[in-house]
Amino acid sequence: MTFKELNIIAPILEGLSRANYTSPTPIQEQAIPAVLAGRDLLGCAQTGTGKTAAFSVPIIQLLCEKPNAPKQVRRIRSLILTPTRELAIQISDNIKAYSRYTDIRCAAIVGGVSQKVQERALNQGADIIIATPGRLIDLINQKRIDLQYVQILVLDEADRMLDMGFIHDVKRIISKMPSKKQTLFFSATMPPEITKMVKSILVDPVKVEI
Ligand code: AMP
Repeated sequence: MTFKELNIIAPILEGLSRANYTSPTPIQEQAIPAVLAGRDLLGCAQTGTGKTAAFSVPIIQLLCEKPNAPKQVRRIRSLILTPTRELAIQISDNIKAYSRYTDIRCAAIVGGVSQKVQERALNQGADIIIATPGRLIDLINQKRIDLQYVQILVLDEADRMLDMGFIHDVKRIISKMPSKKQTLFFSATMPPEITKMVKSILVDPVKVEI
């Protein structure tokens, strides 16, 4: 199997090839077609399986294929929520590599760094935001971020977000987005509270397990 056989468009293929990704990992083979088809996804997978590209490559492609706003107003069309700053920065670096030859822009919104720098990135416009819940809530409260155009939401390492006490923030963030959207949900474990959350936010999800 190749990324080309998964119908990935040429500019993303170029980015993947530059990152030395020759063939998709099993989770990428399963997840990419489902996400491209617009389905919700429930992934039970650990970091190290190629999970990041499994969700971000098809997101970049979907956003490339349906630019929804005039060029001068770049709206946040995808939000990736992840528990830690390190993970957010890693995901953001990966997305930059995959989208290098496209028009897609992303920004990481994380705690522990100057809010000014992140506001500048937001003002320049981002299609994809990769955020930790705490800092994102701050920016929402200050009305510096608008999530009403989000079409694709990713909850990454949902069980860790729960363990870290972010569940209330996550629910609040979800309430700021349109209810009609595509949701991709990843969790290494499925405790009862996670199962409950999955049932309340995913619609007929495709399940991938590694
Ligand atoms: P992840 O599980 O997304 O954190 O990925 C684990 C590591 O595998 C990262 O260093 C990725 O850059 C790398 N990786 C992911 N997918 C591929 C692929 N298809 N080919 C080569 N390396 C990959």
